Amino acid sequence: MFYANGQKGKAGAKTNWPYPTIVEVTKLVREVSYLYTDSINYLLTNCLNPNMNIGKAFASALYKQFKVSLPEDTKAKIGSLLSAVPDEDTEVVLTLGCKGSARDYYNPDSCWWNGYARSRDVLEYNGGGALRAYNEDGTLIGRAWFLPYEDWIVVFNCYGDGNLQHAQTWASLINKAFGWYAEVVKTDDFSIAVADEDLFVNDAAGVIVGTKPYPRKKVHVRPDVNAPHIYTRPTVKCAVCGLRVSVHNITEIHSPLIHLDSNLVCNYCLNTNIDTISAGKYAGQLALSSQTIFMSDNRTYYYKDPEVYCDPFGCWCFTEEAINVNGTLYAPCVIVTDVYGGVHVRGMDTYQYCLSCGKIFPADDPHFTEGCNEN
Ligand SMILES: [Zn+2]
Ligand SMILES: [Zn+2]
Repeated sequence: MFYANGQKGKAGAKTNWPYPTIVEVTKLVREVSYLYTDSINYLLTNCLNPNMNIGKAFASALYKQFKVSLPEDTKAKIGSLLSAVPDEDTEVVLTLGCKGSARDYYNPDSCWWNGYARSRDVLEYNGGGALRAYNEDGTLIGRAWFLPYEDWIVVFNCYGDGNLQHAQTWASLINKAFGWYAEVVKTDDFSIAVADEDLFVNDAAGVIVGTKPYPRKKVHVRPDVNAPHIYTRPTVKCAVCGLRVSVHNITEIHSPLIHLDSNLVCNYCLNTNIDTISAGKYAGQLALSSQTIFMSDNRTYYYKDPEVYCDPFGCWCFTEEAINVNGTLYAPCVIVTDVYGGVHVRGMDTYQYCLSCGKIFPADDPHFTEGCNEN
């Protein structure tokens, strides 16, 4: 590869805008708008493309964000104010791997040191590393990760003070510091094809960097995710919830009633999603809670146990208590009995309540044609 561990380069970069400049620019903008310094500061640090003519870039960002158009002479004045801001001497250092703390890589809260620590294993195993930017005092002011990609490297997850949070700034910094080609690849054309838990990418755009221009438009990186555990402990995938958990948090289960991709279940799922069958022919076996039926007296059955029955309404009962109505079995809770002891299914039109005496009769009972004589 064209780079080496510890390689350094210097470049001038506009990483932060001095406050007096922001105030001067605000004054000019306020001749034609209502905007305050906060908005101008936001615009300068978030919306400027440093590769462009700075006055024009500011005017177009101002229009895009706030729909404010500037007169030509104001544009020119702002352009010369911004160009007068000297480039800060910035040192860019390339290192392989990601040994050290989150703080060593600019962002103390980085998820790569918390929930997505596996990202560091995958980055290091695939020959990737970090690009870090330092100001004249040697203070760390930004960081981006890189992965090798064919004859190039891709730079992603750009972080930093002011303009260093943009892939654009990093592209121009890398170009100036090392003399390499560095081009921003936009969201739709850039991807690192891995699951978040293998390598977490939080910036949609990337930068493709090399000693020759990249000949294509799209960049799709596929790092090998079977990296050994360099910075993390081994984890195992829970067959129920699919989350990866530490091996201490996994239980191996064996049950003829549970058919999953593996026998490994996290302790949370074991406690909340798996039950022990307590009754019927599967008593003593484990089963998924979604496939167990709770009956009276705290008896838990497997749903396929012949001792329990699910009627056409979805009501469960003991099979021996199911009631036959015209050849179909129903749970007792859906059955209505008429005054003669005949059974009917709740909601059907085979029976009728008498509004006078409140008793139940077959629908075609003479009680209704001859009139209620119960009173
Ligand atoms: Zn689980
Ligand atoms: Zn009646």
